[in-house]
Parts: sequence; structure tokens; C-alpha cells
Amino acid sequence: MAKPTSVSPAIARRLLSYVKPFRLGFVVAALGMLGYALVDVYFISKLPGFIDEGINAKNTDYLRYAPVFVIGIFVLRGCCNFIASYCLNWVGTNVVQTLRQQLFDHYMQLPVSYHDQHSTGELISKVTYNTEQIKQTTSRALAVMVREGAFVTGLVVMMFYHSWQLSAIFLLIAPVIAIVVRLVSKRFRLLSRNIQNAMGDVTTSSEQMLNGHKVILSFGGQKIESERFARINNITRRQDVKMEATRAISVSTIQIIASFALAFVVYMASFPEMLDSLSAGVFTTIVGSMMMLLRPLKQLTTVNSEFQRGLSAAKSVFEVLDQPVEQDTGTVTLDKVAGDIRFEKVNFTYPGHDKQVLFDISFTAARGKTIALVGRSGSGKTTISSLLPRFYELTSGDIFIDEHNIRDCTLASLRQQLAVVSQHVTLFNDSIANNITYGCTVPVSDAQLLAVAEKAHVLEFASQLKDGLNTVIGENGVSLSGGQRQRIAIARALLREAPILILDEATSALDTESERKIQSALGELLKGRTSIVIAHRLSTIENADSIIVMDQGRIVEQGDHHSLLAQNGAYAQLYKLQFGETQ
Ligand code: ADP
Ligand code: MG
Repeated sequence: MAKPTSVSPAIARRLLSYVKPFRLGFVVAALGMLGYALVDVYFISKLPGFIDEGINAKNTDYLRYAPVFVIGIFVLRGCCNFIASYCLNWVGTNVVQTLRQQLFDHYMQLPVSYHDQHSTGELISKVTYNTEQIKQTTSRALAVMVREGAFVTGLVVMMFYHSWQLSAIFLLIAPVIAIVVRLVSKRFRLLSRNIQNAMGDVTTSSEQMLNGHKVILSFGGQKIESERFARINNITRRQDVKMEATRAISVSTIQIIASFALAFVVYMASFPEMLDSLSAGVFTTIVGSMMMLLRPLKQLTTVNSEFQRGLSAAKSVFEVLDQPVEQDTGTVTLDKVAGDIRFEKVNFTYPGHDKQVLFDISFTAARGKTIALVGRSGSGKTTISSLLPRFYELTSGDIFIDEHNIRDCTLASLRQQLAVVSQHVTLFNDSIANNITYGCTVPVSDAQLLAVAEKAHVLEFASQLKDGLNTVIGENGVSLSGGQRQRIAIARALLREAPILILDEATSALDTESERKIQSALGELLKGRTSIVIAHRLSTIENADSIIVMDQGRIVEQGDHHSLLAQNGAYAQLYKLQFGETQ
């Protein structure tokens, strides 16, 4: 959602820089709008002649020529309108397209910590809603400013030309109208800021409900959620009503002020000396023009607030684009590494948080070995695994892969070395086959695909589906069970042939039956790789070459299964607990 702050000209300049590549369209649009306004003014300026010469003087030639003139004028006006609208929209949609693409690409490059701190709903609404707002509000504001501005100016000039005495009243009421406009736009700004905030709450609240739909159902939270939403919904409505009320009051006020001008003109016309110098045509035209000025004046009243709204949406988009992307200053391009991992005195605090999560973590995992991380939840196991792909920068300390400090490696080549299977499998709305081959840089043969699908026990369930491996699995694989999703993730990791493997509670969400099946797939996966296995069930890691026991961000014990049991410390305690619990 757009953040409520006053908007500086710098934002407007920056937005304008997006228009630059499309400036030709912009210029044509402006010309079209000017043409439109001038045609209108020209038409009105012909009215006195029409009335005085045509009707009063009964000049039939003049009258015969008039219909052609009317149609001609309207054709011209229509053309101008079309060109202006088309070009303005062309520019606007191009700018929106550019902004959307930039946002999309930037989101992907932002560090994980940025995504941790911002809700998905908020980020999505910037791509969809805010960019659209920028286009709508600024192009409407521009159209009003150029077209109605030119129309008002033209009309006023014409009125002065025909009778400066009557038109002089404008000099008096213009400042009064200006004051009203100022007051009103101030209030508009406040209200539209409130509306944008309220809209943000509406999105967030809906998103929360949709994401947690099942939880709400099972805890019977419908009433609470509904009431919460009703409150937010009502706030939005009330702001809307206030906005409309302000608009209506301002329009009426300006019209009443304008009526004074009209009254003045009529009053002036009652003076004999004025009447003598005034033709019926000029009088009608001036009165008519004054009436006609009301609509554009009304629109010009709100143009500033409209602009502000667009610019504040632009500001919120630029704020994201200005966020620094992931640091990728490393110069070492890792080829296929052997897989020696070394953590050295790693301390870590999540960005934007005070609590230190990892303290002085040092350990090594030699190539091909399996290291298990165990410990209570919240002890920092997942954190360790997300430091290896450099999702976060270390607070202090170093991590080495094959004696390369990972800080010196390019992100792409570093991440190429790792395959991660975690508890939360992310699948794309695509076929099983494409999900398995996701991110593969080289073409995968059918035989290769079948081989990994077989090894990961994917074929086992895929062959029962209608289209086999080509079955499309729905958004995030909704049509699959947890175990099936897990197996796809394992196949994906197998195909990747990365030398380092991270398994983060890869099987903890599964029942024993599925787990047993997956265990053999995992065994396949562990062969010949350096593996970091995080497991909740200790039975799954008994064979690890080394077990690291974590507690509150510190390594408290380290050794193999038997030596740790013999120590009779934290690991032995955990083991006994589980032994009593599960078997
Ligand atoms: P484990 O995997 O051992 O259960 P984690 O590594 O997930 O533990 O979490 C360790 C600590 O870090 C916890 O106290 C948790 O609250 C905190 N933490 C985890 N992820 C984040 C995050 N993205 N932002 C801030 N704090 C986090
Ligand atoms: Mg975890």
C-alpha cells in the first residue's frame, strides 16, 4: 500500500523519467488534448456571430453554413479526443508495464531478510494495485490539467476579448476559488491517505483469512474473523463517505461562488450604457461560458489531490526499487566442489532483530560425510542451513567450502553446489516432470528423468495418475500428499547432482510408512555427497558420521551416535525421551 507522506517533486521527476522513452506519445497526447480544448473554445467563440448575424440579422447564408460547421467541429473534436485518450493510455500502460517488470525482478533479487519482514499481500498489492493507481490517477490528473486548463484559459481569454468589463469579475472571484481549492485538496490528501491505509488493512485481513482458511474452520474462528473484517471494512467505507462529502461540498461551494459572478454579469447588463454596448450574442455567450466553466473548475479542484495520490503510490513503489539487492560481489566462480564444509566462529543475528540466534558455531563436514544437526526446535538448526546458500550475511565468522570463503563466491555458483530438501516443499503449478527438472540449465533426457523419478519413488504414484509424469499438480501441488510432494523434491535434488545436500526435517511431516519409503530415496540421495541432515526423529540420523547437538544457538555436544550416548549428556537425554515416546 502507498505510504502516507507528503510527496516531493523528486518523485514526480523520477516518475517522469519513466515517461521519457514514450515521450512522443506523450507529446501527441498533449497536443490532442490542447486541440480538443481549443476546438471547444473556437466553437463557443463563434456563438455571438451566430446569434447576432444569423438569428438577429436573419442572414440565411450564415445559417445554412452553420450545420456543416457544427458537424465539422465535432468530427475534429472526436479525433482529438481519440488521439489524446489513445496516446495517454499507451504511455500509461507502458509505464505500468515497466514498473511491474522492475518490481517483479527486484523482488527476486531482494535479500531473504527483506521478504521475512514484508507480508506477501503487501508486496503483491504493489505490483497489482499501486502501479495501476499511478497510471490512473496521474493520467487522469494530466488530462484534466492540460485539457481543462487550456479550455478554461481559452474561455476566459475569449470572454475578455468580447467584453472585458463583464469578465473582469473573474479577477475578483478567481482568488476566492483558489482558496477553496487549497482547503479542499488538503482535506483530500488526508482522506486519501486514510483510504490507502484502510485498503491495506482490507488486503492484509483478507489474505490472512484465505491463508489460514482451514485453521479458522477447525477452530471455529469465523465469527471473530468476520467481525474483525467488518470493522476494517467499515473504516474504509466511512473514509469513502467523507471523501465524497468533501467533494460534494467543495463542488457546491465553488458553484455558489461562481453564481455570484453570474449574478454580477446579469446585474451589470441592467445598466443602460452597458446594454447599448452589448449585443445579445455576446451577452448569451458570456453567460453561457460562465456556466460552462463550472465543470472544468470542479475537475481542476481535485486535480492536485489526484496527483498526490498517484505520486504517493509511485513513492511506495520506488521505495521498494531503492531497497538494496542481495550482495553479490564475490568473484570466485565455483565449479563443482568436492564438498568440504567448515564453519568458523559463526555468530548470527537475523537482520532487524536484537536476539542473537547463533553463537560461535564451529564445525567441519568433510567431503562425502553426513553431519546431523539435532536439538530442540528454535535452537538454530534451520538457521545454520540457510547460511550456507548465503540467504543471510553472517554477523561475524566465516564459512568455507573447499577452502573458499563463501563470501568470495558468486551467489549463482555457490547455490549451484547445494541441493536443499526441506519440510516445506515448494512446487509450481506445472507438470510433475517440469517440477522435477525445475532450474536445470542443461536439457534433461527422458531416461534421466525416469531414472530419478524411479529412485525417488515418484513413479510409484505418478504412474497411477492419468497423465503420469506430465500430470499438472495445481498451485503448490495441492493435489498431492505431503509424502508425494517430498518425493518430488527429492527427485529434484537428485537431478541437480549438487555435491552438498541439506535435508531440513525432510521427513518429519510424514507418517512412518511414507517415511520408510522416502528413507531409501534419501539413502540414494546421500551417496557421495556432503550432507547436512536436520532431523527430528533421532532414529533417522543414527548412522550419521557426526552428530551435532544444538541448544539455544550453541553447539553443546558433538560426536557419533555411540560416543554421544556414552557421554550421557544432552543427546542421551533427547534419545531417551524419544525412545520412550515413539517406540
Ligand atoms: P530450528 O530450525 O532449530 O527449529 P531456527 O533456526 O528455525 O530453529 O530458529 C532459531 C531462532 O531464530 C528461533 O528463535 C527463531 O525464532 C529465530 N528465527 C528463525 N527464523 C527467523 C527469521 N526469518 N527472522 C527472525 N528470526 C528468526
Ligand atoms: Mg527448523
